[in-house]
Amino acid sequence: MQQHLSIFDPFEGMRFGNHICFLCGTHVTAEEQTPVFPAWLMKEYAFAHEPLRLLDQSVVTYQDLKIPCCHNCQTNHLQPLEDKVQQALSQGIAGMRALDEKLLYQWMGKMFYGTLITELIKEQNPLVQPEHAVSEQPKMLMKFQAFFRVLQSLRVPMEFPDFIPGSLFVLDVDAASEPTRFEFRDELSTMMFSLRLDNMLIVACLLDNAMIKDAMKRVWQEIEPRQLQPIQAAEFSARVFYAGYLLNVIPDYLLRPVKLQDDHLVMDTLIDDVTNVIFNPWQNSSYAKLLATMWTRWGITQADILRDPQEPMSMLFSPEGEFIQFPQIPGQEK
Ligand SMILES: [Zn+2]
Repeated sequence: MQQHLSIFDPFEGMRFGNHICFLCGTHVTAEEQTPVFPAWLMKEYAFAHEPLRLLDQSVVTYQDLKIPCCHNCQTNHLQPLEDKVQQALSQGIAGMRALDEKLLYQWMGKMFYGTLITELIKEQNPLVQPEHAVSEQPKMLMKFQAFFRVLQSLRVPMEFPDFIPGSLFVLDVDAASEPTRFEFRDELSTMMFSLRLDNMLIVACLLDNAMIKDAMKRVWQEIEPRQLQPIQAAEFSARVFYAGYLLNVIPDYLLRPVKLQDDHLVMDTLIDDVTNVIFNPWQNSSYAKLLATMWTRWGITQADILRDPQEPMSMLFSPEGEFIQFPQIPGQEK
């Protein structure tokens, strides 16, 4: 197989470390690193010095978060993508929505993967022994391995013939009175990653072959053309994150055999659905618990949300299913 079409699998033999390029596996020096959150983004939204708490409870700043990356991958693979995203972002939400979904997936995926391998590299250190080591959970490692196969499209020309590996939602939020310009949330076990940049919120599940987006089609049709209030955007995030918990299948990816004259790889997908249950049943109580964590700043509790146990509180839709133009936030009524 041609060299540039060979893919790297760091999960085979758990090859993670400060001297291994995250993308191609080449040996790198300690100086060859790339920030998890792109430098231009940290500068534009002024969060380089903001604190970030990792899984082992240590606190770093965003600019401290770096992963090993060789010069070649940085220059020829990451930088061109950053340039395209920066260009799209300068056109606002319309620009980001017009961006090729595969590029947006890769861009979000690299940040997610960067936070993930920061945890994995820490776990290789015998002095750091987190209580729930990611590297000791076989099911999670299988997911990360599948995810990394498609993320290799950052480096190796790769075609996804009839699918996109994740669900991506780009929302318009009224952020005029938000205290910060940048917010981010991730959840390693469900492969969720969300990012708010001023009035744009991107919510992504990075390993579901767009099954969440498909299941939420009707809700998304209502939401996509509108500008949401922050409390509504938080509820939408809660719905997507909760769907991530309910997702019962893990997509797998298989390379088509490569012929000598091929100039790119073709990845096929396989969904292991022997049980035929794509999503586990929705439970109002667990959904309300998650929603309450997203609504903490509005002081809304799980009990408030479940005042009617059959109909959890919603700031997006009325009980009749109508979109709520001006949500009345509990405790803030005039
Ligand atoms: Zn590399």
